Amino acid sequence: MPSPNRQYPARKLPRALAALAALALTAAPVSAQRMALLATFPIPRRDEARDIVDVLRSRNLLLPVEGLTAGQLHDTYNDARSGGRVHDAIDIHAPRGTHVLATTDGTIIKLHHSSLGGITIYQLDDDGRTRYYYAHLDRYADGIAEGVRVTRGQTIGYVGDTGNAAPGDTHLHFAIAILSDASRWWAGRNVNPYDVFHGR
Ligand SMILES: [Zn+2]
Repeated sequence: MPSPNRQYPARKLPRALAALAALALTAAPVSAQRMALLATFPIPRRDEARDIVDVLRSRNLLLPVEGLTAGQLHDTYNDARSGGRVHDAIDIHAPRGTHVLATTDGTIIKLHHSSLGGITIYQLDDDGRTRYYYAHLDRYADGIAEGVRVTRGQTIGYVGDTGNAAPGDTHLHFAIAILSDASRWWAGRNVNPYDVFHGR
């Protein structure tokens, strides 16, 4: 007659193996699917986005339009835009010619003219991964060029209505994104600037 010690694993092991196999079969595809989704999803997961906002809040970014305070901002980050797009930025209204200020120290990585953004600036933070986008500028400030270093508070351009802004609707379109590759200045995961400037 077998002892209980030998009988126990002999009877339980196949069941445990079957359970493990079932777990492997069901868990693996779900996990792979989730990983693929996270890799392609353009917006950070909620907890990740909150972490990034917390980090950016601690950086004391400057509100990029001269003379405005965070209390005057409106959260237009999730607004719908033409062609099924989401805004993914905030609009900061100000008179034409108001100074646009570098939100922090960094490098101008791209000066770009586009039909949507008009006259725009892409600035890379010294952390090498946070990118700031300033659009609808009236013009660039003197000395602003690709590769130039700028410091927090430096005037880099002037508020305007270039691109697809309605004529006379002068404002700065400001976006923050976390780049996975610093050479892909137009890509990245957007973070809501309103959350960064508000409530800190
Ligand atoms: Zn905008």
